[in-house]
Amino acid sequence: MSAPIVRLKGLQKTFIQHGTFPWSPKRTVAAVRGVDLTLGPGDILALVGQSGSGKTTLSRLVLGLEEPTGGEVWLEDQRWDGLTERQRAQYRARYQYVPQDPMAALDPQQTALEHVMETLRVLGGRSRDEARTDGLAMLARLGLGARADALPRQMSGGEQRRVTLARVLALHPRLVVADEPTSGLEPDRREEVLRDLIGNLPKDAACILVTHDMSAARKWTNRTMVMLDGRVIETLRAEEDEPAHPYSRLLFDPWSADLPRNGLAAEGCPFRLDCPHAVGALAARCAERAPTLTRMGENEHHHVACYHHAVSPPPVTEAAS
Ligand code: SF4
Repeated sequence: MSAPIVRLKGLQKTFIQHGTFPWSPKRTVAAVRGVDLTLGPGDILALVGQSGSGKTTLSRLVLGLEEPTGGEVWLEDQRWDGLTERQRAQYRARYQYVPQDPMAALDPQQTALEHVMETLRVLGGRSRDEARTDGLAMLARLGLGARADALPRQMSGGEQRRVTLARVLALHPRLVVADEPTSGLEPDRREEVLRDLIGNLPKDAACILVTHDMSAARKWTNRTMVMLDGRVIETLRAEEDEPAHPYSRLLFDPWSADLPRNGLAAEGCPFRLDCPHAVGALAARCAERAPTLTRMGENEHHHVACYHHAVSPPPVTEAAS
């Protein structure tokens, strides 16, 4: 088996939230609660969940853009958390981040080619001529050959995203973390950006794609991790495995508008205030403590954190009018 590229062990992150006024009490918010994960070459992981589920924080912890409050991050054979920026600098070309907002990441004064060349020179150690040759080749691969001299404001939203991809992919990284790289784009453009990203990843790389888009998770990735309230509540191969957790089923159902409405429970399973299974005698166990991930039979890729996923929920009865 190939050596892992990412290993997370019991990863945790809490934030201190200040109140509205200086005298308001501070609150500790757990954004990531004990996440374990291993990714190897060729693994393309969709990290899915609603806003506030912890997926963006988790993706930032992996690259050291946030420091964990507990647990460990390993990238290849290097313990990554706790390193200084200076210590991390030598590995920066190997582990790359695609931001959600391309305009915040691009310099308004630089052309598409200059962006890619600068990255190749600073992080990739290329000479000016090498950076120019490799930069032009990567832009051409992403369909931007004729746009090499365009400034960000002269590009469409899809072209701006592809410039951020070109910068990352030209470095031949071992790990790419992409945070909602298609947000705000039309469906056709989303498809193009994901095809450019996944289709041009080095074969020995791993990728984490943070997304709200369940069809993208199914189509472009080979593993999916569903997060809720900072916890992983299901891991599966979305193309082959049917979601088993009641929350995942709602997320993956394109017709469902019934995502959690009653908020998250502070005790027990966080989904229990909305869960159709947590009724009658079954509800007591759900209220006791949050379930942990358990393997689904013989399927080593499918784990679910739910006590009653195999039980059919009771039929919904019409309220008397
Ligand atoms: S543990 Fe209980 S409340 Fe949580 S998802 Fe499963 S059935 Fe629903």
